[in-house]
Amino acid sequence: MSLVPVRRRVVQVALTALAAAATTLAVVPASASAQGADAYLPVNYTCSSTLRIKAQQMTTTQLQSTCRSLAGQDAYFHNVVKDTGQPVANDRNTSLEVVVFSSGSEYRRLAGYLYGANTGAGGQYMEGDPSAYGNQARFVTYRDDTASTFTIKNLNHEYTHYLDGRFDMYGDWTANTSTPTLWWIEGLAEYVSYGYLGKWNAWAGGVASQQTYALSTLFDTTQQNDQDRIYAWGYLAVYYMLENHPADVAKVLGHYRTGNWQAARTYLKQTIGTSYDADFRRWLLT
Ligand SMILES: [Zn+2]
Repeated sequence: MSLVPVRRRVVQVALTALAAAATTLAVVPASASAQGADAYLPVNYTCSSTLRIKAQQMTTTQLQSTCRSLAGQDAYFHNVVKDTGQPVANDRNTSLEVVVFSSGSEYRRLAGYLYGANTGAGGQYMEGDPSAYGNQARFVTYRDDTASTFTIKNLNHEYTHYLDGRFDMYGDWTANTSTPTLWWIEGLAEYVSYGYLGKWNAWAGGVASQQTYALSTLFDTTQQNDQDRIYAWGYLAVYYMLENHPADVAKVLGHYRTGNWQAARTYLKQTIGTSYDADFRRWLLT
């Protein structure tokens, strides 16, 4: 399969578990009430002026390696989305707080209580209102206690949501999803995460040969659809578009970045329409 270019196919690991783990939705529009969180999350670590970690328990080595992983992702992300390096207008989410619970059970016990997170998913980005002064962008996740080495669930996937929200998607979650944009939001988070980490997306690789969806259908994906369609097929749609039709992606992102949701929608569904469907279907088997 050429779903991941050879240069990235370095570490073909963590197959099914990792794929199944990537089930995270960027829901919950409101900024969370984090009062009282310090009592549960005693570790506070500043990676940089724009990034800090709160955790139940992490060693200095783990904190430093997590900071490095996130900091290193910026350049990868910007190279994929080809932005100017300037945030979208009115985005004041200059800093991000990463909250790490010590296990899946601790996450389910506390993330909803402390942050209003939907703990049915494997982590959650909470953008809040990016135009509001004092808003704190945050994602909540947990240590994957099933992994043999220290691993934070969906770390780079959730971080992509932060960067995408800041550099590609104008306004808050409600605005971002006022038209079907989930193919991009979740597809990009998967694409950047797997690509940056140099990991093979076995989930997407497994469903691709089934040729289940037309590309034009994937442009309609919403949260009502199943996880295969949102994550694995979102990844495939974004992968295909970025690598085969970058000019179209630039057009769509130009609209997303200015909150011109209907124009983006018209471009996807009418200008592109079904014209790439046959090629996408063929590409899925390559
Ligand atoms: Zn996500």
